[in-house]
Amino acid sequence: MGNIGASEIITKEPLYKRFELSSLDYSEIIEIIFYEGFVDCFCPYCGKSSIFSGKLDVNQQQEKVNTQFSLSSFPGGGGGTVKIFQKPELYSLNFYCSRHTNHILNVVYKIENGSLTKIGQSPSLFEIQRGVFKKYKTVLGENYNDLYNSIMFYSSHFGVAAFAHLRRILENYFMRMAHEQCKKESNWNEKQFREARFIEKLELLKNNLPETLIQNPRIYSIISKGIHELSEEECLLYFEAVKECVFLCLDDTIEENRRIKSKENIKTELSRIDNKLNNK
Ligand SMILES: [Zn+2]
Repeated sequence: MGNIGASEIITKEPLYKRFELSSLDYSEIIEIIFYEGFVDCFCPYCGKSSIFSGKLDVNQQQEKVNTQFSLSSFPGGGGGTVKIFQKPELYSLNFYCSRHTNHILNVVYKIENGSLTKIGQSPSLFEIQRGVFKKYKTVLGENYNDLYNSIMFYSSHFGVAAFAHLRRILENYFMRMAHEQCKKESNWNEKQFREARFIEKLELLKNNLPETLIQNPRIYSIISKGIHELSEEECLLYFEAVKECVFLCLDDTIEENRRIKSKENIKTELSRIDNKLNNK
């Protein structure tokens, strides 16, 4: 399963994504379904980021010990894991906000048919991620709705729909800005651009698109594909990486805007001082 931990499954992975038990070892499964550590995420009740900590009740602690004991008594590794988790079972976890114990994050896992799935979460993945992405509202303007929808679809495990909205941000925000820049260039062929297909447009605008989006060949190849060419699995697989790229580009834009604003403020302040000195 790579290096994703129990906390990342809660803060990053959508509901209903299946993790095959055969791809995990005992300790990883135990760590996920009986996770007692910290979850660092946005608390929708506090309205700011917080640290939640997990606490198992007495029954769960006993169950954890029993499971560990049963697993250790099975010789021969992986086969034992599957035997232990053969019966469908639910595991629910509670995490408490460090600011207020009434702010509770609940997570429910189901083990069934050889796989582990997160089947419930409250507040939802969308709500806890919203704290991270709402800062892009000002910079994205009307395109913010696409970001909102994209993350909402992803948190419910709808890959193509999530990806389609992410692609619209690319098209209606980044490519539109790049197009405005390109139109100012003397050798720009607007007619050729208007008649081009999406992938050709992307190619024509390449030099004016954020480096983060075009630098990585895998990201570039995935964003240049038509939506109908992408499978549900492919969209889910690449969603996080492409979304992080978009966030990085938006962070750059925010930083750039902040610098421009700062420079303007300095200019205004200096001219205010000048005026004051001249009026003396
Ligand atoms: Zn809180």
